[in-house]
Amino acid sequence: MARIIILGGGASGMVAAIKARTEDNEVIIIDKNNNLGKKILMTGNGKCNYWNRDINVSHYNSDNLDILEKIITEKNKLKIEEFFDRLGITPRIKDNYYYPSSNQATSIQTALILECELRGVKIFNNEEVINVKKKNNIFEVITNKRNIECDKVVLAMGSKACSKTGSDGLGYKIANSFGHTLIEPLPALVQLKLKASFLKEWQGIRCDAKVSLYENNKLVKEDIGEVQLTDYGISGICVYQLSGRVSRGIYKNKKEDIEINFLNSLEISDEEEFVKLMDERNKIVVGRNVSQLLDGILNYKLINLILKNTWISRDDSWDNISMVKKLELGRNLTKLRLNIIGTNSYDMAQVCSGGVKLDEINPLTMESLKTSGLYIVGELLDVDGECGGFNLGFAWISGYLAGKSISGDNND
Ligand SMILES: Cc1cc2nc3c(=O)[nH]c(=O)nc-3n(C[C@H](O)[C@H](O)[C@H](O)COP(=O)(O)OP(=O)(O)OC[C@H]3O[C@@H](n4cnc5c(N)ncnc54)[C@H](O)[C@@H]3O)c2cc1C
Repeated sequence: MARIIILGGGASGMVAAIKARTEDNEVIIIDKNNNLGKKILMTGNGKCNYWNRDINVSHYNSDNLDILEKIITEKNKLKIEEFFDRLGITPRIKDNYYYPSSNQATSIQTALILECELRGVKIFNNEEVINVKKKNNIFEVITNKRNIECDKVVLAMGSKACSKTGSDGLGYKIANSFGHTLIEPLPALVQLKLKASFLKEWQGIRCDAKVSLYENNKLVKEDIGEVQLTDYGISGICVYQLSGRVSRGIYKNKKEDIEINFLNSLEISDEEEFVKLMDERNKIVVGRNVSQLLDGILNYKLINLILKNTWISRDDSWDNISMVKKLELGRNLTKLRLNIIGTNSYDMAQVCSGGVKLDEINPLTMESLKTSGLYIVGELLDVDGECGGFNLGFAWISGYLAGKSISGDNND
C-alpha cells in the first residue's frame, strides 16, 4: 500500500485527498488548524461563492496562462460540477456565481470533511508541518509531533494571504527547497492605498462608481460597482478586481493610478456631459445652490468634498460658476485620478498574486516537473483569479487533477 500525505487541508487539499484515496492508497491530511477548511468559512462573506459558470482563463492572472488553459478545460469543469453534485451541494446561481443553496459556507466545509471521513482519509488536525525532505524516492514529512514517511506528497498549504486561516507562506519555502521557482507572491483582492489630502474627509462614504486603472498613464483595467472610501484609500469588490495588477505593477516600479467616475450610474462619462446634465437640472430644480443641485445625485459628504477641492463654494448658484470651474468640477466627479501608493497587507488580502511557476508543473496531473512524487495545488501556484468563485474554482480543479493522477484512475 502506498502512503500519500496531503500537506494542508484547505479547499485544494481536501479535494485532492478525496480523489487520491483508494484501497491501495492510504491518504493522510495534515493541517495545523483544529478543523479542515477554515478559510472556506470566510469565503463569500460566509456564504461561500464556490464556483462560477464562466470559469475560463480570462478571469485569471498568471505568467503562464497557456498552461492554465490546459488545467481549466471544459472536461475538468464538468468533473467539478459533478463532484459537488455527488457531495450533495445544490447550487444557488446568481449572475453566474455559485453558492450552496443553504447560503452557508459550512455546507461546503462539512460536505468535504464528511466525504474525507467516509472514504477513510486520515485527518491529523492541530499538527504543524515544519519541513519535507526526500531521500531514495521516499519523502519524510517533519511536523511538530512526528516524522512520517510516505511515497507521495501533495503540497496544498495555500498562499500568504489571510494567515489567521493557517496559510502563512511556508508552502513556498518547501516548494523552493524542491527546486521550484517563485513569482513573488503579492497581496491581491485587497484594498488600495491612495495618495490624497482628503482621505480623512471621505472616510465612510459608500457609492457606486466606475474605477479605471492606469499603469504608466495607460488604461489597463476597469470595473464597476460599489466603492467604499476609507482613510487610507479605497475598497470594494470592483477595486479588488484591479488590485492584483496594481501589486505586480508597483513591485515592478510602475506608476499606478486609479481614476474614479462617481457619475457612471447616470451614464455621465466626462465633464461636458456633466455640465449638460447640470444645465438641464438647473432649469427643472429651481432655486437651488450648486450643492443642493447635486443633492439627490451624489452622496452629500462627497459633494461637499469635491466642491471644496475644486474651490467652488457650496452656496454658489450654478449660473454664477464660470465654465472653466464647471468643467473642472465635472472632471473631478467623472475622472478623479489619484496615485496608488500600495495595497493593504497580506493579512487583509483574499489571495496572493504570484507563487510557484506554472511551467514547472505538469498541467494534466499537477505533479512537479522538478521532483517526482511531489504535487502542488491551489493558491500556492502562480494563479490568482478575480472575485466570483474563480479562486476556489482553481483550488478544486487543481486538487482534483492531483488526486485523480495519484489514484491512477485514468477513466475518470
Ligand atoms: C476573506 C476571504 C474571502 C474569500 N472569498 C472567496 C470566494 O468567495 N470565492 C473564491 O473563489 N475564493 C475566495 N477566497 C479565496 C479562497 O478561499 C482561496 O483561494 C482558497 O481557499 C485557496 O485554497 P488552498 O487550498 O490553496 O489554500 P487554503 O484554503 O488556504 O488551505 C491551506 C491549508 O493549509 C494549512 N496549512 C498551511 N500551513 C501549514 C502548516 N505549516 N502545517 C499544517 N497545515 C498548514 C492551512 O491551515 C490551511 O487549512 C477568499 C479568501 C479570503 C481570505
